[in-house]
Amino acid sequence: MDILTYTPEHEDFRQRLRIFCETHVIPHVDRWETEGIVPKSVWRQMGGSGFLCPAVDPKYGGIGGDFRYSVIVAEEISRTVQTGLAAALHSDVVVPYIESYGSEAVKEKYLPGCVSGECITAVAMTEPDAGSDLAGMRTTAVEEGDTVTINGAKTFISNGINCDLVVLAARNPDVENKYEALSLYVIEDGTPGFTRGRKLEKMGWHSQDTAELFFSNCRIPVGNRLGEKGMGFLMLMEKLQQERLTCAVGAVCGAERMLEWTMDFCRSHNRNGRPLSKSQTVQFELVEMAADVKIGRTFVDKLVADHIEKKNIVVETSMAKFWTTDLANRTADRALSILGDLAAMESCPLVRAWRDVRVMSIFAGTNEIMKGIAAKFMGL
Ligand SMILES: Cc1cc2nc3c(=O)[nH]c(=O)nc-3n(C[C@H](O)[C@H](O)[C@H](O)COP(=O)(O)OP(=O)(O)OC[C@H]3O[C@@H](n4cnc5c(N)ncnc54)[C@H](O)[C@@H]3O)c2cc1C
Repeated sequence: MDILTYTPEHEDFRQRLRIFCETHVIPHVDRWETEGIVPKSVWRQMGGSGFLCPAVDPKYGGIGGDFRYSVIVAEEISRTVQTGLAAALHSDVVVPYIESYGSEAVKEKYLPGCVSGECITAVAMTEPDAGSDLAGMRTTAVEEGDTVTINGAKTFISNGINCDLVVLAARNPDVENKYEALSLYVIEDGTPGFTRGRKLEKMGWHSQDTAELFFSNCRIPVGNRLGEKGMGFLMLMEKLQQERLTCAVGAVCGAERMLEWTMDFCRSHNRNGRPLSKSQTVQFELVEMAADVKIGRTFVDKLVADHIEKKNIVVETSMAKFWTTDLANRTADRALSILGDLAAMESCPLVRAWRDVRVMSIFAGTNEIMKGIAAKFMGL
């Protein structure tokens, strides 16, 4: 029995999304990789076709779908071998902060645009001197009356150039306890004092517009705070479970795609007069890789089912995040070894995949941080 089952509605969504990707994404990926960004119009096409923010309440334009829709998006997007159209980050990581913690006015103002793709989102936590140690962030948010004044710098922000709305984590300097001093705010593109810095040149994720963001006396209404003042740390912790699961789903999908591609290659390429797939050495390597990937898929599907049932799976998602991103990296390495000289060619799709999966053990909480969380919850 499958751990995750899909309804006809899910399957219809998958088929339509696959056609969307074949028509509007895959033919353009090479250009986006060169340009370092995905045109905003493609986000609007994706939203307009109903593939962004499936979990959002129908009241705000979504379909109120369960997390299986997010899994489908991750699976279909993984076939496109690109990272610029970061639908999972937008739909499953950033927008849930707005829907869960925004006031009614904030939700009515922003969520319909998030669903339609008119409003691309980013989440800004990392700073030049604060990555894993969120409590060490220096960006300040001073609340006075109806206004909040933001000052500081963020870096490595995905969708940083394209974003129309940033969910920003900042420190309230009037609060002494550093864990009670973080709050989350939404900041619109075009707000005076909010500027972009460099679009970062990365070893992978070439089509993703990861960027620096700067805030200099940037004033926003206090109504743009998400939730209560000082609850930022707790809100981040609460939502990180889904972020890590989303990352694990993406990692398993990536590993599955790399394995499929390698098996096809081995079946269709001859060495010494016979297909590579007939070599016992290659067969054993592929079988081991396939077993590894199946273990990852089974683990992640179980966690998706638990997440849909709203179970607390903090330890398991932390384990899944590090294990599956290591799996994706292992799979990429082993696949490239099988290919021989083709593995040195920029034109080989696996080369891009290998570069892209490398960073997965670093973001969404480094794999070392994941092990630290698991150790703590295991009472070690
Ligand atoms: C492509 C890309 C996209 C990103 N997108 C975003 C985004 O959209 N928004 C955002 O806010 N950030 C984003 N980030 C930033 C990312 O979340 C951080 O890089 C990550 O949190 C790690 O922080 P750091 O790089 O400062 O490393 P550090 O925290 O400085 O860690 C350096 C090393 O020390 C280890 N380490 C640190 N603390 C501990 C500890 N307590 N125990 C054990 N080991 C530890 C780490 O595991 C790592 O190996 C992105 C990064 C990349 C590369």
